Amino acid sequence: MPLPTRAGLDAVPAYRQGRSAPAGASKLSSNESPHAPLPSVVEAVRERLDGINRYPDMSAAALRDDLAVRYAVDPALITVGAGSVEIAAQLIHAVAGEGDEVMFAWRSFEAYPSLVRIAGATPVAVPLNADHAHDLDAMLAAITSRTRLIFVCNPNNPTGTVVDADALEAFVAAVPHDVLVVIDEAYVHFDRTESRGAGIELFRRHPHVAVLHTFSKAYGLAGLRIGYAIAPAEIAENQRKVAIPFGVTDLAQTAARASLDAEEELAGRIDEVVVQRDRMQALLATAGWPAVPSQANFVWVPARERTALLEALLHDGGVITRAFPGEGIRISSGSAADIDRVEAALAASSPTPDL
Ligand code: PMP
Repeated sequence: MPLPTRAGLDAVPAYRQGRSAPAGASKLSSNESPHAPLPSVVEAVRERLDGINRYPDMSAAALRDDLAVRYAVDPALITVGAGSVEIAAQLIHAVAGEGDEVMFAWRSFEAYPSLVRIAGATPVAVPLNADHAHDLDAMLAAITSRTRLIFVCNPNNPTGTVVDADALEAFVAAVPHDVLVVIDEAYVHFDRTESRGAGIELFRRHPHVAVLHTFSKAYGLAGLRIGYAIAPAEIAENQRKVAIPFGVTDLAQTAARASLDAEEELAGRIDEVVVQRDRMQALLATAGWPAVPSQANFVWVPARERTALLEALLHDGGVITRAFPGEGIRISSGSAADIDRVEAALAASSPTPDL
């Protein structure tokens, strides 16, 4: 007798993690920070280890208070999860179920379609425009009476494009107020345009906006799993109902608070990641692999049928990337040494000027 399977699960692919790297290789496949954790963060976590026989504070009150002060919002509007991916799931579960639609641009963060299907709702993927950016007009046109939530990934993963703040505001204003717009700003710290951080301002001005942030990228805490949302009160309330109890460890909460205290030190690291991103982009262009101008901690090379070739030549040079077969390749920014490797790998290959 076959064991039971939930109806519809066949359509849900298991999440595909960025490739791991052999010892000594540069792992540029998961948009992580190339820097070791800050000593002050490690110290704070170490001090908390004594308490791990106890459950964590499920409400993450201290961290939420810190964030509430920082953004000048009511702590009741802040929800903390095991990575922003868990918060994305909570937001979907809070507003959408069977028969409802959840929209996002495509290609974008790979987890969106799976999370929507897991909630029993229907994913609506709206193709990016020719510049690999969100096509906001097409997204507006795709709204139906069943649309419950729209993700705007800004900067977008994997293309690194950003939506201009004014265009985003016009979009939000045009979306019916019974649809939640979630601005996923996982990569916002690497955005050097004037639109950086538009999400929180839109949250303040519009009743149907939520903002999603993570400690995994700029703050370098990917391994501890912690992210948060700032959302309208009734959404945050419903997120608490669908959250997995005790999903966020005390160690993660402690590390997040210590990271907020070390922002100046982190800012220098973020600047360095941006410098290396721009350097990598220039190297790729010179070698005949033009990338989409990026405002994130990675670059996207739409290499299409040459994707496997680029992946292989970087791999041969000890650089592990994230390839989307037939579409393109995403290369995370890294340390200067990592990008030296990219440079050497590109130099070792024959140029491809006809791209
Ligand atoms: N949003 C986007 C756009 C992402 O790319 C990612 C990670 N790849 C996440 C959310 C989730 O990150 P985390 O769960 O580590 O916070």
